[in-house]
Amino acid sequence: METHITSLKEYNTFGIEVTATNFNNAKSEDEILDFITKSESKPLILGGGSNILFKNNITKPILKIDIKGIKIIEENEESIYISVGAGENWNDFVKWSLVNNYGGIENLSLIPGNVGSAPIQNIGAYGVELNDIFHSCRAISIDEKKLKIFKKEQCDFTYRSSIFKGKLKNKYIISSVTFKLSKTNHIINSEYKPLKDLLLNKGNLDPTIQDISKLVIKIRTNKLPDPKKIGNCGSFFKNPIISITNFEKLMKRNNNIPYYKISKNEFKIPAAWLIEECGFKGITEGKTGTHKKHALVVVNKGGASGEEIYRFSQKIKKSVLKKFNILLEEEVNIFE
Ligand SMILES: Cc1cc2nc3c(=O)[nH]c(=O)nc-3n(C[C@H](O)[C@H](O)[C@H](O)COP(=O)(O)OP(=O)(O)OC[C@H]3O[C@@H](n4cnc5c(N)ncnc54)[C@H](O)[C@@H]3O)c2cc1C
Repeated sequence: METHITSLKEYNTFGIEVTATNFNNAKSEDEILDFITKSESKPLILGGGSNILFKNNITKPILKIDIKGIKIIEENEESIYISVGAGENWNDFVKWSLVNNYGGIENLSLIPGNVGSAPIQNIGAYGVELNDIFHSCRAISIDEKKLKIFKKEQCDFTYRSSIFKGKLKNKYIISSVTFKLSKTNHIINSEYKPLKDLLLNKGNLDPTIQDISKLVIKIRTNKLPDPKKIGNCGSFFKNPIISITNFEKLMKRNNNIPYYKISKNEFKIPAAWLIEECGFKGITEGKTGTHKKHALVVVNKGGASGEEIYRFSQKIKKSVLKKFNILLEEEVNIFE
């Protein structure tokens, strides 16, 4: 295990220049256990840094999880169970699954970050969420210094959340995740409108999982800024879910509001639309702003501090609250 003072600029996709006085990494479960046993304070856990905003220099210990490895645990004619180290890059795993023709994660192509962080907010895109193919994960309790296996039904997966972002927040370090993927009869998820439109355009009525991945990559690269070129963390806020009562009130004042009915009593509203309606799409404010193609993506226009980005995000939040009486919730994890 290595310990050193380091700049965190390369470790967060916002590209914020802050430092850590106690930066460590762990390449195995034993190294995690060793670290948390010896450390005097609770560490901040770091994966690929694509869903965090560092507001200031970090004085708490940071533990970056670098456990590698992709192992086939079990398989039958239809399905395969694969255990993946938390430090593997998510998109590399997606590419590996496609080369081997294992289905289930093609819609999640090109999401940045690592495999170990994927269950934290139940990553999702284009009609698929991690919980659709999640089987279990191994995680180490920071307080008890013990390994526990979490089965899917113990993880409380919901839209962009899980038990690890809820009641067990900052209590467990995920060391590996086991997925159940399909080997044959892949279920193709092509109902998401932009995906469906592209397929129809191409006259492709029977897409393979590889076709879906290619199209998802095409849509994403068109719409989302590449963090290597412009610092960002994808969606800064979650899409708010509101009750039918609030939805009806909102509709009376804005009958053009886009929405997605998720149950009899709940409606999901695109946060990007609310932000755009408040005049924030594609704007620049100092060294920060929002992306020109996607109002939900807060960007670092070069040299912004974490504080600046945070202040700008709160301005957006206040504006949406004032205009629509909807309180946006951050999807990005704020590290003080
Ligand atoms: C351009 C762009 C597009 C994106 N698109 C999407 C999208 O379509 N869908 C989506 O869901 N997300 C999206 N994201 C957000 C991000 O990619 C995901 O949330 C990803 O899972 C974060 O992984 P990470 O390794 O970078 O996590 P980090 O940012 O390093 O950490 C995120 C959180 O997880 C915790 N954590 C990290 N690793 C572990 C571990 N091993 N054990 C316990 N806790 C841990 C951290 O403490 C932190 O709270 C996007 C981000 C960007 C920059």
